[in-house]
Parts: sequence; C-alpha cells; structure tokens
Amino acid sequence: MTTIRENEPLAAHTTLRVGGPAARFVEATTTDELVAAVLEAQASYDDWMVLGGGSNVVVGDEGVDGTVIRVLTRGVERLPDALGSSRPIRLRVQAGEDWDGLVAHTVENGWAGLEAMSGIPGSTGAAPIQNIGAYGQEMAESLIAVDVLDDDGERRTIPAPELKLGYRTSILKHGGTRAVVLSVDIALEQNPDARSRPVQYAQLAEALGVAIGERAPLVGVRTAVLALRAGKGMVLDDADPNSVSAGSFFTNPIVSESFARSLPADAPRWPLAPEPPSLAMPLGAEPALPPETGPVQVKLSAAWLIERSGIGRGFALPGSRAAVSKKHTLALINTGDATAAEVSQLARYIQTRVMSEFGVVLHPEPVFVNLEL
Ligand SMILES: Cc1cc2nc3c(=O)[nH]c(=O)nc-3n(C[C@H](O)[C@H](O)[C@H](O)COP(=O)(O)OP(=O)(O)OC[C@H]3O[C@@H](n4cnc5c(N)ncnc54)[C@H](O)[C@@H]3O)c2cc1C
Repeated sequence: MTTIRENEPLAAHTTLRVGGPAARFVEATTTDELVAAVLEAQASYDDWMVLGGGSNVVVGDEGVDGTVIRVLTRGVERLPDALGSSRPIRLRVQAGEDWDGLVAHTVENGWAGLEAMSGIPGSTGAAPIQNIGAYGQEMAESLIAVDVLDDDGERRTIPAPELKLGYRTSILKHGGTRAVVLSVDIALEQNPDARSRPVQYAQLAEALGVAIGERAPLVGVRTAVLALRAGKGMVLDDADPNSVSAGSFFTNPIVSESFARSLPADAPRWPLAPEPPSLAMPLGAEPALPPETGPVQVKLSAAWLIERSGIGRGFALPGSRAAVSKKHTLALINTGDATAAEVSQLARYIQTRVMSEFGVVLHPEPVFVNLEL
C-alpha cells in the first residue's frame, strides 16, 4: 500500500545522510502504485523526483519543496531462456530490488555477469541511470532493456542500445528525460562449474590469483570484491564511518591525448578506444577515403589528481564535518551531522585545487538535488 508522509527528512534516506525535508514523501511498493504516484506528480505543477537507495544523490539542506517518490517495488522474475545465446539466462527485475541482493541471487544460482559489481549500494532501477560499474564490469554488458514510464506518462520498453550507456552516464542521467525505470531486463551467462565472466581488473585478478582474462569461481569473485571494497569503505557498513558517503564523488576525467601528455609522467592514464567512424553518407555519394575515427581520448585518475593537489585521505576544511574518507580519496564522507553545504564546500575546494594544479575540471558523479556546486 502506498504510504505518504509530510516533511520527511531526506537525510534519513540518503547514504551521505544529508538533505532537508521532502514536503511530500511517497513510498510505492508495487508497480501500479509507482505508476500512479508518478502520473500524479507529472500532472501537478510541483517539483518531484524518484529516489531508490539514496546512494548517488546529494540533497540540499532546503530539501525538496515537492514530492519525492521512493521506489520500493520488489520481484525477480525468470524469463524464458534465450536458447543459443551466449547469455541465455534472462531476468526481469523490479526497480526497487536491492542491487546487491540481486547480485547475491545470481551468484548463488551460478549465473555470471554481475559478480564484479557485488557490494554496490542502491536499487536495481537506478543501476542503468549511470551505468554502474566496478572491478571491470558494468551494467551495459548485461542490460537488455528497461521498462519505463516516460515523460508523457506512457509505459514503454527502451532497448539498452538506445540508452547511450557510457562511463557513469546514460540518457536517463544526462539526456534531459525524466523517465522512471519500472523494471530492468538482464541477460547472464551460465558457465560450467559456476565460473565468472573473464576477470578484467588487475587488482581483482591479483586477489583471486588468476591472470587477466581468466575466469574464477563466482563465489570467490564476489567474496574478493566485497573484501576489496570494504578495505576502501565502499560497502555500506554501520560500523565503518568511512562508508557514510555517496561513493566516488568525482568521475575520472576524460581528456585529449595531447593534454594528457602535458601531465607528470607518473600520472595514471588509460587510453580509451576511439569513437567509431560515422558510416553515414549522402545517397549517391562516391565512397572515398576510409572515414577517420574520432580523436583518441585518455581517462585520468581523479584520486591521483586530488592527492597530488595536496589533499590526502582524512582531509577536512577547518570546522567542517565533511571530510575526505580515510580509506579512499575519491569518497567524501559525513563525519557526523554535516550539512549538504559543508559537503559542497569541500567538493568545491577539491575542484579548485585540482584545477589550479593541473588545469583539469573534476565533475561530480552523484546527482545534485537543490544544491549548487
Ligand atoms: C559506498 C558506496 C559505494 C558505491 N560504489 C559504486 C560503484 O562501485 N560503482 C558505481 O557505479 N556506483 C557506486 N556507487 C553509487 C551508487 O551506489 C549507484 O549509483 C547506485 O546505482 C545508486 O542507486 P540508488 O538506488 O541509491 O539511486 P539514488 O541515489 O536513489 O538515485 C540516483 C539517481 O537515480 C534516479 N533514480 C533512482 N531510481 C530511479 C528509477 N527507478 N527510475 C529513474 N530514475 C531513478 C534518482 O532520481 C537520482 O537522480 C556507490 C555509492 C556508495 C554510497
């Protein structure tokens, strides 16, 4: 049954534990309730948003003078197997399902594809929003489609390729749409001896004692990932003050190859595959030279840039209750009763330091709600 409360403090519903009240806070536990709540919000002139686990938002101290719809729908349905496909296991997962609970379920059943994303907090419906990823896997590899309620209040299915999933982005995050994800369809492998997808991340491969590209037991991968994440404060744990965060606060910057060359030689960098060439030609045009690929781009390490700007783990501005995690330079934490203003002040300070030291703009990863950076 839908529950509605007034003046609900959003700090209680976000992992960073900041955020003022929502004038109206609606909890939807079935898809029908969720659809009804969103249609009502769309029809009103008030501000509104949906909230999953609150692990990728920073809500301002004024809160939301409108409606916040908390997605609490549950259910994992096994669809008919896609015989002949390399990923024959098909699941339809309701948006409010806990993501890590879903990963645990797939690992228990011997299905591969999500295991390296163990321990990421939040809901399954939010997973495609920024194409979550960790330890060499990302949502895009397993996602087939999402069922959404679109901006016109229509239910429709969007195939994964249309979502423009990229590094911590999709059209659902940066495409100007406010479509609400109702359910997510995913495809998984079923390998002999419950083995994982090939391990792609050096630190994980080392922890498992396998080479990059080798498979490992699914249960072992999940255990190793959870241990690696706990060491960085990246699993939610009431006993770990370093996990009171919104995860990585900044994305790794992507710059041109020539700019990357101007950075110190020890700056970590990963060349990205160039954009594929456009093969579109006007009708009747003569095929000429092979089309050129886009310029090579390079991903930098935001953590390295921050540390080399003189901001170490545990750093805090004088008198502020927001701090850099003691376990991970990229996570900003609430050390107790911090305000959203304190968090954004620290984030701005870090951005300024990195900009003046290296000329690189750090972009925040979480979604800001009624808060300026
Ligand atoms: C300790 C920690 C570690 C983390 N590690 C990682 C990591 O390794 N990799 C990674 O990618 N992320 C990571 N994150 C970020 C976060 O867990 C993910 O982005 C997650 O998918 C957010 O889910 P959520 O349900 O909490 O979303 P919320 O924070 O509730 O919402 C995030 C955004 O998505 C929107 N949204 C939520 N649900 C829906 C829906 N059903 N339909 C439409 N829009 C919706 C919200 O309106 C909001 O704009 C981490 C966060 C924390 C706190």
